[in-house]
Amino acid sequence: MTTETAIFRVDGVTKSYGGVKALDSVMLEAGVNEYLSLLGPSGSGKTTLLRVIAGFEVPDAGRVYFQGRDITGLPAHERGIGFVFQNFALFPHLTVRKNVAFGLMYGGETVSAAETDKRTQAVIDMVGLTGMEDRGVDQISGGQRQRVALARTLVMQPKLVLLDEPLGALDANLRGRMRNELRAIRERMGVTFLHVTGSETEALAMGDSVVVLDRGRIIQAGKPDDVYSTPASPAVAHFLNRFNLFSGKLSQGVFTGPFGTVAVPKATRAADDVYAIRYDRVRAQPIGAVTSGPALKATYIASEYLGSSVMNFFETADGKVVEVEHHLSLGAPQTFEPRQDYLLTWTPDQAIVFGREGK
Ligand code: ADP
Ligand code: MG
Repeated sequence: MTTETAIFRVDGVTKSYGGVKALDSVMLEAGVNEYLSLLGPSGSGKTTLLRVIAGFEVPDAGRVYFQGRDITGLPAHERGIGFVFQNFALFPHLTVRKNVAFGLMYGGETVSAAETDKRTQAVIDMVGLTGMEDRGVDQISGGQRQRVALARTLVMQPKLVLLDEPLGALDANLRGRMRNELRAIRERMGVTFLHVTGSETEALAMGDSVVVLDRGRIIQAGKPDDVYSTPASPAVAHFLNRFNLFSGKLSQGVFTGPFGTVAVPKATRAADDVYAIRYDRVRAQPIGAVTSGPALKATYIASEYLGSSVMNFFETADGKVVEVEHHLSLGAPQTFEPRQDYLLTWTPDQAIVFGREGK
């Protein structure tokens, strides 16, 4: 992608607060009509990155481009970039309609009253708030407030919308529904979304691309499937929250871990020797089962239903929790006896191994 075809491009952006590098030489770009998820632990620099793109912060180094233009020094209100804040930032004393129309009425653009009404109603309808126009925003639910926050951004017809954990304040149920709606709304509008989320499920489910940030650096970016199936480092595997990670030792193509010794034909270079196996690749067998590959004795603790799968938790002798996921599409889940020991096994070629010996 060149500066001309990318809708935005962040080029070597660094930003420090005191001694803390919130962003460290960040490079990131997105095409027109793309959905980018930004995933990272708390404090990794996600909000700072959005604030730099929006123009609320000036980077110490690096440039920001938008629609082919260097906007690094441009004030936020002249950028035409939408921002949906985590806490919604609505005007509490105004109605839904007035909150949505606010930018058109008082922004830099001159928009006629008729045009303001038309555009306001159109986005209110699109986000599913028809009939709520004259309610105060203190008389609607959290999910509806979230829609107002989105509508007041979209009414300005931005080409890029930055969303900072927009679903973070909602309960799990509503969150799932809003997730689907956000994606549908974005597709209808044809705008680019850069969506920050602390939830790996959200990042993997929603984005055309996933960008993983850790301590101010982008540690992986790619299609959700690729990031999921080939995490670039133990840190990415950890943030995805889909892998059991075991430390051990990789030496001459053999990994020695708590599950025994396994031949490792292929390993990814990393600072530490780590063996990763996906939750849904592990099977729990009776303790006496005959196995040929890796096997780990662990005690069954509890299970949790997650909608489309069941997560079973086991604990090893040294206190490590190992997760075993069963997708319900594969049939009824196994049942386990509390405090009973089982043998956890998997096919070695499904593991992802990292180590100093890797390539
Ligand atoms: P995230 O959104 O991923 O949780 P932030 O971008 O908010 O992370 O913060 C990144 C780092 O920068 C953190 O260490 C945070 O404490 C620091 N930081 C962010 N904003 C400020 C600020 N205004 N003043 C001082 N430190 C800040
Ligand atoms: Mg944040």
